[in-house]
Amino acid sequence: MRIILLGPPGAGKGTQCKRLVEKYGAVHLSSGDILRAERAIGTELGKKAQNYMDSGGLVPDDLIVAMMVGAMKKAGKGGFILDGFPRTVVQAEELDRALDKAGEKIDALLNLQIDDAVVASRMTGRRSCPKCGAVYHIENLKPRVNNVCDRDGMELMQRKDDQPEVVANRLKTYHEQTEQVIGYYENKKPVISIDAGMEIDDVTKAIFAELGKLKTK
Ligand code: ADP
Ligand code: AMP
Repeated sequence: MRIILLGPPGAGKGTQCKRLVEKYGAVHLSSGDILRAERAIGTELGKKAQNYMDSGGLVPDDLIVAMMVGAMKKAGKGGFILDGFPRTVVQAEELDRALDKAGEKIDALLNLQIDDAVVASRMTGRRSCPKCGAVYHIENLKPRVNNVCDRDGMELMQRKDDQPEVVANRLKTYHEQTEQVIGYYENKKPVISIDAGMEIDDVTKAIFAELGKLKTK
């Protein structure tokens, strides 16, 4: 299965991807997670990406495309779920080219739809584990012990780009540069819209139901 998960930052892409991976066994490829890992170990790519990420802008297309095409090659035949990529029409075109070359194709796009006000509060309330990457929310998905990861006992962190000033910029970037990616795919691939404003489990159920229909077509 090869799926692209679209939607504004904070829509729940990462949260749903983890569940999709458990069910379908594909590899979760999050461009944001890969960039944060590059930054954590201090690579050239991580250093180049840092100012764009901290201000809520986009990292240049050429860097992102090279990074994601490399990650897709490593994913192997079980497929992948792309989370946060492509984020511009140029990235989508480059992705198409890379897939053509590899003789692979995207099965569908899932478009998580949600209002800006809701995603803003999801982002500002998001907390994550610096060790295992588990994602929580201060109200919607609390850890068992306040601010401590259920899995490994680490203190949870708030992402720097989840501060309110940066969140506003990320949403602006989404509307100006990423929303058009949906239009790019509309006549090419099945684009499945999901109401991402529902509770986490209900969003998962809606996604599984839609993907089930796709598989039987
Ligand atoms: P994205 O990967 O799209 O940026 P995340 O999956 O990290 O978004 O979710 C953003 C925040 O919102 C996290 O704190 C997560 O726990 C919370 N969240 C995700 N989905 C929902 C939902 N359906 N309802 C309420 N909170 C959610
Ligand atoms: P995310 O974790 O998906 O919210 O991404 C965090 C930040 O990484 C974004 O705000 C961008 O600065 C950068 N980023 C992630 N994916 C991309 C992409 N496909 N293109 C450009 N920048 C990206």
